[in-house]
Amino acid sequence: MRKRGREEERERSEAKTGHQLVRARSGSEMKVMVAVKRVVDYAVKIRVKPDKSGVETSNVKMSMNPFCEIALEEALRIREAGAAAEVVAVSVGPAQCVDTLRTALAMGADRAVHVDAGAAPVLPLSVAKILKALVQVEQPGLLILGKQAIDDDCNQTGQMIAGLLRWPQGTFASKVVLDKEKQVATVEREVDGGIETLSLDLPAVITTDLRLNQPRYATLPNIMKAKSKVIKKVTPAELNVELKPDLEVVQVTEPPKRKAGVIVSSVDELIHKLKNEARIL
Ligand code: AMP
Repeated sequence: MRKRGREEERERSEAKTGHQLVRARSGSEMKVMVAVKRVVDYAVKIRVKPDKSGVETSNVKMSMNPFCEIALEEALRIREAGAAAEVVAVSVGPAQCVDTLRTALAMGADRAVHVDAGAAPVLPLSVAKILKALVQVEQPGLLILGKQAIDDDCNQTGQMIAGLLRWPQGTFASKVVLDKEKQVATVEREVDGGIETLSLDLPAVITTDLRLNQPRYATLPNIMKAKSKVIKKVTPAELNVELKPDLEVVQVTEPPKRKAGVIVSSVDELIHKLKNEARIL
């Protein structure tokens, strides 16, 4: 009885998310959706705001999150291999996310959607709810995200959206092979003991690790072309998502400064220090 109840619930959920519809599509018609986040550029030294409410972002260079570049590159390679027809880039956040989406279009995304969520940071669960609503509209066969955003280092959104959609997930992918006939993605992921291989029925969620690929640079002609492309704009309210933060940021502070190191003259001295000063032995 219990099992049947769960199955019925799953069927209802699948009908809502378009699971069966996507499954029936052939690979060449499949759409890949990629979530790209605008973050402080990886080369910028992070500064905490004087009021400790967050990280300083005004007059700071912002870029596409590096793991999202890898996610986009993988989606483009899947399309170029003929396993997908379209790559749609999505970004959630303030008006300036349009710049990140222009980069995505210049790299090769076919379309871009900006979910205008205003200036306040949007936490992973809210992003996941927004992505779920967009999945219901776009019905991609594959959703690729970065494994983490380098601003908050949350590493949560991919897992949350997979849970909300009840789609299989392959996180921290270091290799992805798509079988468009069987509608299966084989994902290799680095785990402590070696490489784990997962076989995911599509539609599925994949999050990308650093070693998956080397993202391409956008060429100047493509950057110019991307400037005239239309970016669709929607609001969370239009997607029926209420941005109610489930977490409150109490304070953001710098990590404690590292003390200067010391050079020890012998192994005995090192062991003495580890035992008596660091107390880790
Ligand atoms: P996080 O869970 O915050 O570490 O983010 C993991 C991944 O979720 C990122 O690499 C993006 O692919 C996606 N993501 C998180 N926040 C956003 C956002 N505001 N807009 C688009 N994608 C996002």
